[in-house]
Amino acid sequence: MAKPRVLVTRRMAEEALALIREATDTYLWPEDTAPPYETLVAEASRSDGLLCMLEDRVDEGLIQAAAPRLRVISQMAVGVDNVDVEAATRRGIPVGHTPGVLAPTVADLAFALILASARRVAEGDRYVRQGRWKGWHPTFFLGYDVHGATLGILGLGGTGTEVAKRARGFSMRIIYHSRTRKPHLEAELGLEWRPDMDSVLREADIVTLHVPLSAETRHLIGQRELGLMKPSAILVNTTRGPVVDPGALYQALKGGVISGAALDVTEPEPLPPDDPLLTLENLVVTPHIGSASVATRTGMAVTAARNLLAGLRGEPLLHCVNADALKR
Ligand code: NAP
Repeated sequence: MAKPRVLVTRRMAEEALALIREATDTYLWPEDTAPPYETLVAEASRSDGLLCMLEDRVDEGLIQAAAPRLRVISQMAVGVDNVDVEAATRRGIPVGHTPGVLAPTVADLAFALILASARRVAEGDRYVRQGRWKGWHPTFFLGYDVHGATLGILGLGGTGTEVAKRARGFSMRIIYHSRTRKPHLEAELGLEWRPDMDSVLREADIVTLHVPLSAETRHLIGQRELGLMKPSAILVNTTRGPVVDPGALYQALKGGVISGAALDVTEPEPLPPDDPLLTLENLVVTPHIGSASVATRTGMAVTAARNLLAGLRGEPLLHCVNADALKR
């Protein structure tokens, strides 16, 4: 019997590709950049399974074109905001994702960004390299302490919880707001619940964002919200760029409404070199590398491969965002 054909949209860990190649006729997109949308639609339409990434636009049009044949969409990421999950569900196509392997690695980076921003690490590095370091004096390069500061977590899911664990090691006071209150985590990690986001923004020295991107959270942090924060506060975003209004952030950083920000995710991505945000010394930015450790990217790829293969066999996926799809 002919093996099912699958489209894998990027090179990934060999361990995962070996699993896929053994069970399928695999078409691996040869480049490290996303296939053009038209190519993605054409290739997906000739495939039984699609293993995709967050930069692939898996919209209604693609799903409609591919649906007669496509049986599973497996996203190598936790967030699936690039996939029209409703359109997939309507056509009985399960959508897999890769929770459970990323959170500690993303939390490590969130903490790196917290420290980098509060203690001006990236700015200091630039300063030395530019030959501007002339000496030491008592008010030279002052930043803010992370230890003992109040950390505000917005969205207490997998990553938010891992960030809280790290914050305990820095003797931070931790407040949070999430859609659902989590009394067991409050007890276990010494967290304080706030019933609304504004209270967190007002009280925290460092605000770290971990809500998924959705219609509800697009530009969740804009001019009004930044205005609620302390002038000494720092905003850290490791979730998705559009959760923060970039124009409002630029104005807030330039005007001293808040003291700093650190972004692993931006709007747009990649951030063009002439983006006004990059003119600011009080901004730290990394190129969406939250999950980019060898072990985690391998774990994500293997999970995505297993989701793909389960979907091709008509079995429940290990991690599915639309379990209802299989009932259709
Ligand atoms: P998660 O476990 O699903 O946690 C998200 C949390 O946000 C949940 O606790 C959720 O609800 C809460 N939430 C959802 N909507 C909310 C709202 N409107 N207001 C307040 N809280 C809300 O996801 P995760 O693993 O922590 O990841 C979070 C996001 O990080 C992902 O969606 C992804 O976009 C992003 N991410 C980025 C990278 C990177 O490379 N930078 C890597 C991985 C993930 P409850 O309170 O009901 O639980």
